[in-house]
Amino acid sequence: MSLGQTLINLQDIDLDILRLKKSIDQLPERQRLVKAVKTHKELQQKLNTIVGKRKDIELDIEDIQEQFKDANEKIKQTENALNSNSDSRLVFNLNRDLAGQIKRKEKLEFSQDGLLEELDKYTQLEEKAQAALQKLIEVEKANTEAIQKHAAQVKEELESLQAERDGEVQHLSDEEYESYELVRERKNGIAVAVLQDGGCSVCGAQFNEGQLHKIKNGEEVSTCPSCSRIFVRPELDEEAEE
Ligand SMILES: [Zn+2]
Repeated sequence: MSLGQTLINLQDIDLDILRLKKSIDQLPERQRLVKAVKTHKELQQKLNTIVGKRKDIELDIEDIQEQFKDANEKIKQTENALNSNSDSRLVFNLNRDLAGQIKRKEKLEFSQDGLLEELDKYTQLEEKAQAALQKLIEVEKANTEAIQKHAAQVKEELESLQAERDGEVQHLSDEEYESYELVRERKNGIAVAVLQDGGCSVCGAQFNEGQLHKIKNGEEVSTCPSCSRIFVRPELDEEAEE
């Protein structure tokens, strides 16, 4: 195989390798995963707030129940005292205390009703957030699996391309290969250009008659006068058709 053809083959393989590596980043599943992870994080924060609020309400309800117990206790004591006292002033005061505790219980009941409604609201919000979170976890799992599957395929293809590449590189001298790698690095991964429509296939520069004559009659491998990429002269039979 000619040097020019080897360089063209090497270039094709390297472009395939680049395309494959990029395909992992550009997978739609990757975008979906990134989106799901972001939503998951936001939802988790919301859920934490909801759970915090729900726990606060539960503590408030516990507190009210304690106060309720206390009021009942006091009512019992006052009723006992009323049963064992006949002093009119004391009875008056005891009855006033009893009315006060009953009123306290009414207020506590009212507060508790409000808190129970709130608790119901936050419990429902929490359930909804949990369900949405569960769905997101499933989306993340499915997309992660798809990405891993794709990555495994890519790995296999890359290994086969690498073997092909090693085969092509064997046809080059160290100097030729180093030069190819140097240009490839400097020129965004594309080192080799060919003649296309009277110009360079990569940079698009048009060649004048003199340059075309030089290209067609010169060395098989030269340099594009415009972009400095490795320029491979067309095969002799192609040249004849032009
Ligand atoms: Zn060029």
